[in-house]
Formats: sequence, structure tokens, C-alpha cells
Amino acid sequence: MRCFDCETQRNLSNDAVATCAVCGAGICTVHAVEGYAEEELRYGLGNPSRLRLPGRRLYCRTCAPAYLATAGHRDAGADALAG
Ligand SMILES: [Zn+2]
Ligand SMILES: [Zn+2]
Repeated sequence: MRCFDCETQRNLSNDAVATCAVCGAGICTVHAVEGYAEEELRYGLGNPSRLRLPGRRLYCRTCAPAYLATAGHRDAGADALAG
């Protein structure tokens, strides 16, 4: 499989080393972003808490921001929301 982002954005043909956990696109080492999946837990009223699921997830550059906002860079995301 080839890297989807390389093919469509840079007209390159790089071999994919991983598959995006969200959209399933092939991604090369440049375009792969490491992160984690989280599950939202709701205990009655109030803000939901989040449970980090075991294992690593790899995302493409397109899908990563939505996940990294709550996973790898939780502090920055929480501050932005709290402000
Ligand atoms: Zn690529
Ligand atoms: Zn993706």
C-alpha cells in the first residue's frame, strides 16, 4: 500500500508503514501521527470523564487533530476549553 497523503498532496509514492485508525488510509512515517484512543464515560450529570484505551493508535494528518486534542495534548486542550 502507498501513503495516501503523499499520493494526493505531494505527488509522491511512498510506501505506507501504517493504517490510519480512523479513515483507514495508508500512511508513511512522515504522515503517521502517534496517539491513543479514548472512551467517554458519563456518570450522571456533569462533565464526562475519559478513559484511555490500552494500546497505541496511529492516525493520518487529517484525522489526528481531533484525537490529539484530547489524547496526547490533553492539558492544552482542557485549558482551551476551560477558558
Ligand atoms: Zn506520506
Ligand atoms: Zn485518517
